[in-house]
Amino acid sequence: MERIQTKKTACSPELKVNNFERITRWMRWYVICGVVLLFPFDPSRVYYLYGLAFVAILFNVSRYFPVFMRSRWYPSTLLMILVDNIFLAALIALTGDVVTLFTGFLAYTIITASYRYKLTGTLVVVASQLIWLYVAHSQSWFTPVHFELWRTIALAAAVLAGIGIFVERLTRLERQERDVLERLSEDLEAGQKHLVTLLDSLNDAIFVVDGDGKIQDFNTAAVSLCNEDDDLQGKSFMDALQLRPHVNQDAEPHNLLKEVGPQHRRDLSVKDANGAVTDLDITVKPVDLEGRKTTDFIIVCKDITKERSLDEQRNEFISVVSHELRTPISIMEAALSLVQFKKDKLDEQTGALVVQAHTQSVFLGSLVKDLATIAHANNDNLPVQFEQIDATVLLQQMANDFKASATQKGIEIDVLIEEKTPLILSTKSHIREILQNYITNAIKYSKEGRVVLRAEASKSGGVILSVKDGGIGITPDDQKHLFKKFFRSEDTRTRERGGTGLGLYLCMEIAQRLNGKVWCESELNKGSTFFLEIPPVSHLRRDQKQAVKTEVANLVAGV
Ligand code: ADP
Repeated sequence: MERIQTKKTACSPELKVNNFERITRWMRWYVICGVVLLFPFDPSRVYYLYGLAFVAILFNVSRYFPVFMRSRWYPSTLLMILVDNIFLAALIALTGDVVTLFTGFLAYTIITASYRYKLTGTLVVVASQLIWLYVAHSQSWFTPVHFELWRTIALAAAVLAGIGIFVERLTRLERQERDVLERLSEDLEAGQKHLVTLLDSLNDAIFVVDGDGKIQDFNTAAVSLCNEDDDLQGKSFMDALQLRPHVNQDAEPHNLLKEVGPQHRRDLSVKDANGAVTDLDITVKPVDLEGRKTTDFIIVCKDITKERSLDEQRNEFISVVSHELRTPISIMEAALSLVQFKKDKLDEQTGALVVQAHTQSVFLGSLVKDLATIAHANNDNLPVQFEQIDATVLLQQMANDFKASATQKGIEIDVLIEEKTPLILSTKSHIREILQNYITNAIKYSKEGRVVLRAEASKSGGVILSVKDGGIGITPDDQKHLFKKFFRSEDTRTRERGGTGLGLYLCMEIAQRLNGKVWCESELNKGSTFFLEIPPVSHLRRDQKQAVKTEVANLVAGV
């Protein structure tokens, strides 16, 4: 299995053919040409000299060939400097000309030192060579031109010893660099192994997929999820993971939208070879390497089968309990309302208690109703009904429904339909539920003025419905929590009015079910506007499998 792999970081032989190598090759050509063409040599030694030049030419030519440079020792700087210095020392021995060769030698060491040790290296080498020259001069080593052989050999040995120290220093840095590189590479490898172990120990399946939808990396959980024994590398994500809608087998898949940015889906599942279904929570995110966008994206699939079944049990429980509570609470509320009506016949204290009991029973009634609606909205097993909805008709109906309660508070309800508002393809009862909450709040949290119900086309081709009021408004801090369960503002004007803090949470839950979006814009003491964006569901397909494929492909393409 090819997984999040350890990439090789050690220096490759090719890396060693660097600038330094190129400089020394050129220098070698100069020296060889100089020796062969210009050197004043002893005619009796011409064959030795030409033989030496021939060997030097071979050595230099060979360093152009990758076949040699890829071998183990040949590319090493140490070997190169040693060979060059033996070559120079041999030249000194053969010709006895210290001045010319010493100058060449000096140039060579200056260049190698400056390359490796920058200015300090150059200064040290120049100073030491000048001292060397001074000593040689004071010892009258320059005359006569020809040395006896033993003195030449002694000089060459001294030069070689000096070069040995120099080369040792020259390569020390390289060795240190290599040590650091090797240590870094080991650390990196260990880090990557650690990461791979970590990813493999996760229960969530992780895929890294390229722009063409092909799997690049994956963890062990991904292999189990795909039911594959072999390598997933390079396979199409869509083919490896046979996704299908997890509920509503008869319902038309919806939500076939291209959205830019990270995606999060909980409505898809996979079926294994034995027919067992795994419900998935899928997150798709673009791979962002330190701010540099790539075409790859990471897909995390979490098994939510258990969580979902617990959710379903909880929903069923809430649904049954709230349903059972509704009737006794309504009876209690009606009875208390009746007693409240006749409270003149009661003493003052009992009358106050009855009013309080009635208020609380009304609150209890609305709490139970909200809980039942939430359980209903969360019930994924209910089919999603699609119908064509005309925003004008819907908003007009809603305005009429709330006209009486609004007029009681001196509030007018206006309907504003923007041009080019398309038809809505969604579940009417759900949209009504959200708008009802918005309008109830708009009336509840305003003293007078106008409430505007508005419909307009959204950028993505869907519809945005909004409810605007001129009421008490909401602070920016409170706006962050509006759609959370049981949130109610601390504002005394809110607290004066009853409420459960569940209405907006319910709106958000329903909107998610419709794959829509809810949000609010508000200014304290000026008013609030609550929005609902419904996506266009214009491209329903009968072929469910194809539709799901398109759905996930869009999901992936949208990233
Ligand atoms: P409830 O109205 O029952 O308290 P909601 O979930 O409907 O619960 O609203 C949550 C909170 O959001 C409210 O308590 C109120 O503080 C604030 N809120 C909602 N709608 C408006 C509005 N139109 N104007 C001002 N505040 C609002």
